[in-house]
Amino acid sequence: MNSKNYDALVLKSINLKDSDKIYTLLVRGLGKISAKAKGVRKINSKRLSTLDTLNFIRVGLVGESEIRVITEVKMTYSFSNLKTNLDKLKTAYYFIEIVNKLIQESDEYDGVFELLIKCLKRLDEKTFYDSRVENYFEINLLKILGYSIEVGSCVACFNSDFTTRDFSFDFDQGGIICSHCSNSLNYLHTATLNSFNYLDGKLPDQNLEFEEVDQILKFYIGSLLNEAPKSLKYLKL
Ligand SMILES: [Zn+2]
Repeated sequence: MNSKNYDALVLKSINLKDSDKIYTLLVRGLGKISAKAKGVRKINSKRLSTLDTLNFIRVGLVGESEIRVITEVKMTYSFSNLKTNLDKLKTAYYFIEIVNKLIQESDEYDGVFELLIKCLKRLDEKTFYDSRVENYFEINLLKILGYSIEVGSCVACFNSDFTTRDFSFDFDQGGIICSHCSNSLNYLHTATLNSFNYLDGKLPDQNLEFEEVDQILKFYIGSLLNEAPKSLKYLKL
C-alpha cells in the first residue's frame, strides 16, 4: 500500500502492547483520526518525541479508517515557547481537549485544523499573552461546529436595539435574549456584548470586558459536553 503524507496535530496517544502506540491526530483534510505507530516506544526511537502531544507534524499514513498506520513522521512546528510557559501550556491543553471531545472520529470540519494551528502559534509567540486568544478560539470553534452563538440580536424577537432594551444570555437557544422576551434579570454589560462582537470581527478593540464572555463560553461548552472540560480546573489556578 502506498503511504500518503498529511499535515497533522497530535492530540493524544495511548500505549499498546509491545512497543506500539495509538495516536489521535487532527489531520488537515481528514479530520480526527486514530493511527497506530509500531515500535515507537523502543529505546532511541526518534519518532517518539516527534509524535508528542501538541506537535504539528507531517505524517505518512497507510490504510483506511480504523487500521491506519503511521509510516513516517517529520516535525513541522513544535510550539517550543508555548511548552515552556505553564499558563500557555494549560490553555493549549484546554484547546485540544475540547477539540477532541467535540469532534467525533472521522468528522472533518473545514477550518478546525487551521483555527487550532493559528491559535497555538499565537500562544507560542514569546512576548504575547492575551487571554482573549482563548475566547477567540472558543467562539470560532463553536461557529465551525454549528453551535454559533447569536449575539447580534434577540434569539426570540430579533430586536437589536441595545440602547432601549437589556439583554441576558439564553443557554438553551445559544444567544442573547431581550428583556421583553425573557424574565431573566441577569443582564449583560454592554461591554460584554461589545466583546462578543469584537471576537466575531464586527467591532473594534475598545470598551471591552471579557469576564462575562469567558464565563458564558465556558458554561456553554460545558453544557455541550455534558461536563466541564477536565483541563478547565487547571486554567484559572
Ligand atoms: Zn426579544
